[in-house]
Amino acid sequence: MIDITKIRSEFPILSREVYGKPLVYLDNAATTQKPRCVVEKIQEMYYSLNANVHRGVHFLSQEATEAHENARKTVQQFINAASPNEIVFTRGTTESINLVASSFCRQFCREGDEILISSMEHHSNIVPWQMQEDILGVKLQVAPINVNGELLLDEFEKKITERTRLVAVTHISNVLGTINPVEEIVRIAHKHNVPVLIDAAQSVQHAVVDVQQMDCDFLVFSSHKIYGPTGVGVLYGKEKWLNVIPPYQGGGEMISSVSFEKTTYNGLPFKFEAGTPDFVGSSALATALDYVSAIGIENIANYEHELLQYATEKLEAIDGIRFIGTAKNKSSVISFLIKDIHPYDLGTLLDKMGIAVRTGHHCAEPLMQEFRIPGTVRASIAFYNTKEEIDLLVTALQRIVKMF
Ligand code: PLP
Repeated sequence: MIDITKIRSEFPILSREVYGKPLVYLDNAATTQKPRCVVEKIQEMYYSLNANVHRGVHFLSQEATEAHENARKTVQQFINAASPNEIVFTRGTTESINLVASSFCRQFCREGDEILISSMEHHSNIVPWQMQEDILGVKLQVAPINVNGELLLDEFEKKITERTRLVAVTHISNVLGTINPVEEIVRIAHKHNVPVLIDAAQSVQHAVVDVQQMDCDFLVFSSHKIYGPTGVGVLYGKEKWLNVIPPYQGGGEMISSVSFEKTTYNGLPFKFEAGTPDFVGSSALATALDYVSAIGIENIANYEHELLQYATEKLEAIDGIRFIGTAKNKSSVISFLIKDIHPYDLGTLLDKMGIAVRTGHHCAEPLMQEFRIPGTVRASIAFYNTKEEIDLLVTALQRIVKMF
């Protein structure tokens, strides 16, 4: 069960006003707000535990190192990875995908080899692969979706050829809310001996993510979308892959020994963490994950699903509304358009009423082209939102529709 009053009191920002109105924050797919414990963790680290990790014999350095490595274990447990060696800290989902695109392709791809994605990917799961098209001549293949925004699994399988080197798909679409059948996707890809990267940027905060059950080869997510700080992210990779792909960046920490003649690299996971890592960020991410675990991801998922159903029913009553993304299996992201009102106008007017939603292409321009729309208005729900806030959204939209 979700104790909404208690939860909301733990997020100070939720009680602020904008334009003299109570803030209704429905832009959670872009970034989530931070509970007090996460902010306090950051403060505590800088006030009492700040020292560079891995390099010092002194007390503080050892404590900071321990905090960073404990954070790795927390992430490992949160996604049920087999070992902390499989957890690499990065700057976010985007950097994690760039790391895999660069290192995996360098090791395993030659001109004409293919990377298979879906048409509902975020730019960060498109552009890094396109950069490899320029560098190595690999080809991007795109699996189609139906009008509801569901991946067509048969078509997906047909796109796998003997040149496919990797499948990279999102678990949950940031625009459509579609929950992809990732276990099935992995099963199909593995049948053809193709490894799979899962973009979990929109799923770790809403659903149980168990990498061993999923059997994915890589999985990536961002701390800031799961109530943690910005600037930190995670790359999970099976050891068998991380061991054989080359480092992404060079520098301190990722080496075993350096001479001008020959440099050897460190073991996992440090091989992929060049330079001083954000050990404050990783610790605060661990605090966020502990916070989410204490509430229970299943409780969060159930409550958010209830809000999704409530919001969908209420919004359906608005004259001229059109939902973009009507998959059977959906998370709490609602993209819509109303009549021919430009999404930017809807978003701006909602903002003046204190309601924060996102408008535009949501870093998924190819998906917009597929639906032949300029963009959408997107309301994305977190477990600190309420039915009252949904009512405020609906009433505001009704007022706006009357104005047009
Ligand atoms: N993938 C998906 C599905 C996303 O929704 C986002 C961000 O919105 C990203 C990747 C990129 O995340 P970040 O900007 O935190 O690197």
